[in-house]
Amino acid sequence: MKPILIHEVGPRDGLQVEQAVVPTEIKLNWIRRLADSGLDIVQVGSFVRGDKMPQMADTDELFRILGKESHQALLSGLVLNEKGLERALEVGVPFICLGASASETHSRKNTGMSTEDATRRIITMALDARDAGRQVQVSVQSAFGCGFEGAISEDRVMSIVVAYLEAGLTSISLADTAGHAHPDQVRRYVKKVLDLQPGAEVTAHIHNTYGLGMASVYAAMEAGARSIETSFGGLGGCPFTKVAAGNVATEDLVHGLQRMGQRTDIDLAALVGVTRVVSDFFGRELPGCVYKTGPILGKVLA
Ligand code: ZN
Repeated sequence: MKPILIHEVGPRDGLQVEQAVVPTEIKLNWIRRLADSGLDIVQVGSFVRGDKMPQMADTDELFRILGKESHQALLSGLVLNEKGLERALEVGVPFICLGASASETHSRKNTGMSTEDATRRIITMALDARDAGRQVQVSVQSAFGCGFEGAISEDRVMSIVVAYLEAGLTSISLADTAGHAHPDQVRRYVKKVLDLQPGAEVTAHIHNTYGLGMASVYAAMEAGARSIETSFGGLGGCPFTKVAAGNVATEDLVHGLQRMGQRTDIDLAALVGVTRVVSDFFGRELPGCVYKTGPILGKVLA
């Protein structure tokens, strides 16, 4: 397996579903620590309307501040519509993530549009972002099943992938929004995208709703995925779907990789430290394992 890249999405996917709005200064502290821990990409927030989602109301401000600093990780932002893209371009987001849902119901609830219309619109925006000199990643949400509809046909998922590839968009995230994925399915889908476009940069975004998260992540890596999206402490969910749990925990994945001799460049102690602070902030235990147990080698407990 080639070394996998890790895209930390906790500041966006994790914090967007929390009742408590994290003050900007505190968020900055968490993001800075994550962005200097050796992780490859950190998602700072999403460009939604602040009155609709107060947890993400400071995304522009965060990028303005962080953009003046220098951090190891590439910073990403999630864009959902044209207005959001305008804002992302204005504040200089270097890596822009966009996506359409393979579930008709999820798509309509999330965007008010059909999957087909949403896909077309996402492609236009992604190409605009690329023309503006930004790195882009396009995703298929609810790619492995939907909390509203149940199973989503593989053909439907791949038709979105093909539309992205035909537009020249080869950085593609397969997102398990509801957590329905199982390892064989993930392995098959990742391989299929790579068969359609050898060299495509495939990302897996897996939620751990039914406990299959880490197994599915491993299947994605074995099948040739380039990166995995994870969340500190396993925070997360989707406000527009049913029974979603958090993503696979970043520090759990890093710990597992390091046990296999990979990504030893990442500062696991720093990740565990952030998750402990986040857990204290929310005043509850988070789903992640390693921040509670400490790593097997015991080093970060010193
Ligand atoms: Zn998610």
